[in-house]
Amino acid sequence: MPRPTWIKELAQERIQKLFEQANKQFKQHPERSRRYMELAHKISKKYNVRIPKENKKKFCPNCHAYWVPGKTCRVKIDSKNKRIKYTCEECEKQRTQGYRKKHKT
Ligand SMILES: [Zn+2]
Repeated sequence: MPRPTWIKELAQERIQKLFEQANKQFKQHPERSRRYMELAHKISKKYNVRIPKENKKKFCPNCHAYWVPGKTCRVKIDSKNKRIKYTCEECEKQRTQGYRKKHKT
């Protein structure tokens, strides 16, 4: 039986809040941020909800470290291939993401 939509919406809301909290707590409690990312990941799996694209690049898919460029991850922009490469400082896991240049109007 499929889960009712409101449960998914609630799960999504919780995930969103976890990202906000992780962002707020990172400076003083980076370990807490990692816990929040683990939780967000668990919720997304349990309720089968997607983590929004803009939030997906905010944590390591391997160790769930909250990614702050220059602190917990390195960001390299490959403009030739229109890709951004993220490297986790904690576990060296890499994630590449494509990006598109906005069209000038
Ligand atoms: Zn990692």
